[in-house]
Amino acid sequence: MISIIEIFHSLQGETTKAGFPTVFIRMAGCNLRCVYCDTQYAWEEGIQMAIDEIVKTVESFHCKLVEITGGEPLEQPELPDLCEKLLSKGFSILLETNGTLDISKIPQKVVKAIDIKCPGSNESGKFLYDNLKHLSPKDELKFVISSKEDFIWAISEIEKHDLLSICTINISPVAGVLNNAEVARWIIDSGKNLRLNLQLHKIIEIK
Ligand code: SF4
Repeated sequence: MISIIEIFHSLQGETTKAGFPTVFIRMAGCNLRCVYCDTQYAWEEGIQMAIDEIVKTVESFHCKLVEITGGEPLEQPELPDLCEKLLSKGFSILLETNGTLDISKIPQKVVKAIDIKCPGSNESGKFLYDNLKHLSPKDELKFVISSKEDFIWAISEIEKHDLLSICTINISPVAGVLNNAEVARWIIDSGKNLRLNLQLHKIIEIK
């Protein structure tokens, strides 16, 4: 059984998949407490659902892109089995994770979008660097930044671990905290091929 908060159909708001219709499976529980967390309701207990029940609900939306998110989905022991089942049914999967738990059991075909928590989150320093060896160019990394200091820290991590040689790197300003145009300028001036990741679901409210 998997602890689920909600399953819903909307537009993807982040990563290079932003803008595409997506079915979201939000799992319950998180091992972190980021200061800017906008899904604190996912820290609560969810509803226990069997894999077949989850797949049936996902199928009812007739949408082939599925995002598994949280909370922290890797806290659910049956997550790799759910991924296998969805892949076998022809779904594309995007897995959002905070990067602090082992991803080695997640099938390779799943696109991983992994956060590296900056100091401004208050949860920095817990990233599992071993996870990097399971990534390929189709996967994505994300730094959520709350300040210029976070951006400078992200640049030093990117250089130290040669992250641009692995996959796309998203720089995601915390909504309402930073000036997006200013962040765009920081990216341009860094001379690095980073992607400005604005949260589409914070820009438009989908009815
Ligand atoms: S990892 Fe994500 S869900 Fe967990 S506290 Fe941080 S922002 Fe919230």
